Amino acid sequence: MKTEDKSPKKPLIFYYLIAMVVLMLLNALVFPMLMSTPVTEVGYNDFLNMIANKKVKEVAMEDDQILFSATDDNGQLAIFKTGRWPDDDLTNRLLDSGATFASVIPTQDSPLLSFLTTWVFPILFFIAIGQIMSRMLAKRMGGNALQFGKSNAKIYVESQTGKNFSDVAGQDEAKEALTEIVDYLHNPGKYKNIGASLPKGALLVGPPGTGKTLLAKAVAGEAKVPFFSISGSEFVEMFVGMGAAKVRDLFKQAADKAPCIVFIDEIDTIGKKRDSASGIGGNDEREQTLNQLLAEMDGFDSTRGVVILAATNRPESLDKALLRPGRFDRRIPVELPDLQGRIAILNVHAKDVKMEPNVDFDTIGRATSGASGAELANIINEAALRAVRMGRDAVTQNDLEESVETVIAGYQRKGAVISEKEKRIIAYHEIGHALVSARLKDAAPVHKITIIPRTSGALGYTMQIEEGDRVLMSRDDLLNQLTSLTGGRAAEEVVFGSITSGASNDIEKATQIARAMITRYGMSDQFGMVALETVNNPYLGADTSLMCSPETSARVDAEVQGVIASAHEKAVSILTANRALLDKLAQYLLEKETVTGEEFMAILEKEDGAAKLP
Ligand code: ADP
Ligand code: MG
Ligand code: ZN
Repeated sequence: MKTEDKSPKKPLIFYYLIAMVVLMLLNALVFPMLMSTPVTEVGYNDFLNMIANKKVKEVAMEDDQILFSATDDNGQLAIFKTGRWPDDDLTNRLLDSGATFASVIPTQDSPLLSFLTTWVFPILFFIAIGQIMSRMLAKRMGGNALQFGKSNAKIYVESQTGKNFSDVAGQDEAKEALTEIVDYLHNPGKYKNIGASLPKGALLVGPPGTGKTLLAKAVAGEAKVPFFSISGSEFVEMFVGMGAAKVRDLFKQAADKAPCIVFIDEIDTIGKKRDSASGIGGNDEREQTLNQLLAEMDGFDSTRGVVILAATNRPESLDKALLRPGRFDRRIPVELPDLQGRIAILNVHAKDVKMEPNVDFDTIGRATSGASGAELANIINEAALRAVRMGRDAVTQNDLEESVETVIAGYQRKGAVISEKEKRIIAYHEIGHALVSARLKDAAPVHKITIIPRTSGALGYTMQIEEGDRVLMSRDDLLNQLTSLTGGRAAEEVVFGSITSGASNDIEKATQIARAMITRYGMSDQFGMVALETVNNPYLGADTSLMCSPETSARVDAEVQGVIASAHEKAVSILTANRALLDKLAQYLLEKETVTGEEFMAILEKEDGAAKLP
């Protein structure tokens, strides 16, 4: 990827180098020209010889030396000096040789040079030092401390993002919506002729890791136009007014480069709702930045071929003004991938990785329901790393399955010490989940059970895989899930008569499901189809707020307890009825540590067959 920094900051060393070169040039060329003739020092003997040979022209006596001009060996007139020596006869001998007596022989530095060295250079030197210091200060303070109002926005023009739509798997609807923008950037004339104007901005909305940034880059790549990218957080500056200056700068640069794409990532950082409540001394800076952005978008001539894309995963927190017509009036949802999408994403990322021919992305896709594109990309990479660690030269299905757990459940914790007793409890707990769901009608089949701990804190892990992608869950499905979730704790009770902290995660999930059934899905007998809670942000999961009176809320809590309790009761009765099977499976898991769904079902069916025979 080629990036070109629009406001290059040359390092300090650069200025030092320039100074060095200038000094060297002065030394080599300029100073010698300013100097008068060089003075050669000779011995007193040579001086006397030169007098005898009548070579000396002029002589000047100084306090501690004798300066004289004479013709040198090449017949050129040159200036010499020698020390003084008690020599009474010197005057006569000089007179005889025809030399003249002078008071001064001009050998000193020229007045111009001495003026330069005593005045001009020192002053220049201090000015230079001052410059360098202020530059360093400005740098340390993270901006142009001495130049307000001028932005040093880190705006990158990536002339080629190197991405296009084929890099984005799935997301067909989003791609379709963006294709129009690409077409517009290719030939804006077509749109202008008919009088159509494209929306100025499009907002990519979706949970983290679903490929919003990737899509924006792909649009630039497809349209082959420059791509200005800036993250919302970069607008939030140390000095008030800098954010707004950056916005101004960004749009000015974009106008110069049109047609182009301006991409504002994580726009919610500046585009948050402006509420008067946070009033006094609130975030004035952010508000100014937002206002500037709105002003720029309004003042923008959309026929110029600049398209503004933005991305966010908190659309509900955006200021309404941003979503008004003429601004980001087009919303492009970028959702978590479905089964087909997941398989496609796995394939895209597997393109550059050596895979064994028999790897089956279908299984992996099914095991990763709810995973984002970023997580799937990570799974492929983890699998490749694992293959390298194991000294293999291609990725196997096993690598992929391991990395699903690594990415989704945390790294396998090697060498973690767990006592035999704890291990037994964990094995029974996990088999409890698996056995309960196997005994329920229409519950998701078990894919894998393991008691190898993960660094995420999970001590064991029972992976259940749905047959297809579920869009609708029936009341029975949800009750099945609840019963399976309580199966772990139920097994501990049935077998050991005591309970452990190992079920905390199950309890949390079960509570969430039970609450949602009652407050949002209208699945309780007591309340029926009354919404008791609203979801604040569909992308950030369990962020809900209550919509009912405190009395009702207390009744909801009671009903949540009731639903979970009856699920738990059911799990206990299933496990009690299947006690022998529970022991057998737990023993098997203890030995093997990891049991596949097929092994699990084989044991189950063998036992069931034996039970039916007599
Ligand atoms: P977002 O901006 O929505 O948080 P990114 O665009 O930064 O997500 O996605 C992160 C990474 O995840 C991408 O660089 C890419 O490797 C992978 N990724 C996400 N979605 C997809 C997809 N639909 N197809 C291929 N790769 C994807
Ligand atoms: Mg992003
Ligand atoms: Zn559990």
